[in-house]
Amino acid sequence: MGSVGRPKLKLIGRRFKRLKVVEFKGVTSTYPHKSLWECLCNCGDVIVVTGDNLMTGNTKSCGCLRKYIAKRTVRKKFQEYWNRGNHPRIV
Ligand SMILES: [Zn+2]
Repeated sequence: MGSVGRPKLKLIGRRFKRLKVVEFKGVTSTYPHKSLWECLCNCGDVIVVTGDNLMTGNTKSCGCLRKYIAKRTVRKKFQEYWNRGNHPRIV
C-alpha cells in the first residue's frame, strides 16, 4: 500500500533455519540500502543480518551451524578412516 522504499516489517517473528527475526534494526548505510534484522539464533546468540541474506538462505545461523557441520564432517572422515582398518595408535 504505497510503501515503496519502506522496510518490510513482516519478517519479524519469522524463522529462517536456526534464526528467529526479533527486531528491525534499520538499513545499511551504503548503497544499495538493505534492511537489517536482529535475529536470535537457536544457540542463544543474537546477530544482525541483512534481509537479503535471510531470504536467500545465505545466513542460517550466527555461525554456530557452520561450526557444527565442520565438526560432523571431521567425525565422519575419522569414522571412514577407522573403518578402513587404519586404527591410530593411541598414545
Ligand atoms: Zn548460533
